[in-house]
Amino acid sequence: MRFVVFLDIDGVLNTRTTVKRTPYGYTGIDDARVKILANAIEKCGGGDIVLSSDWKVMDRNHEDYRYLVSKLGQCGLEISDHTIDKERKRGLGVKEYLELHPEIEEFVILDDQKFDFEHYKKIWERLLITNGIERAEFASRTPAVEAILFRDYIKA
Ligand SMILES: [Mg+2]
Repeated sequence: MRFVVFLDIDGVLNTRTTVKRTPYGYTGIDDARVKILANAIEKCGGGDIVLSSDWKVMDRNHEDYRYLVSKLGQCGLEISDHTIDKERKRGLGVKEYLELHPEIEEFVILDDQKFDFEHYKKIWERLLITNGIERAEFASRTPAVEAILFRDYIKA
């Protein structure tokens, strides 16, 4: 595993104005946004998706989880793994994941919220704050190269 995208879903692959609904009636996923994600990952030469979103706690057979898997699958994407949070400390979940996976050389985080990410410099510099993936901004004033490139690929 060389390059990883830590992926939030709500606020990244949808926004509050998204009309689509999941099978259970929650805010759905916008195909155009999945496509932007897929294109950006492809331009990076490929990469793995690690789910950091709260969608990760769903049972894998839950209809909404299967909906997510199928939406990603339409663009050739799949979830390879997920982080584990304690007390909604999403940054800590990413940090611990990275420690368990030293083979990860480069990564970015897509999320619409800051959580505790700022506590971890390496993570903060690779965080893109979204309002829908197409509006991705650097969290840090000194973003890492991966974040700069990935944002360019999103905008392209
Ligand atoms: Mg979110």
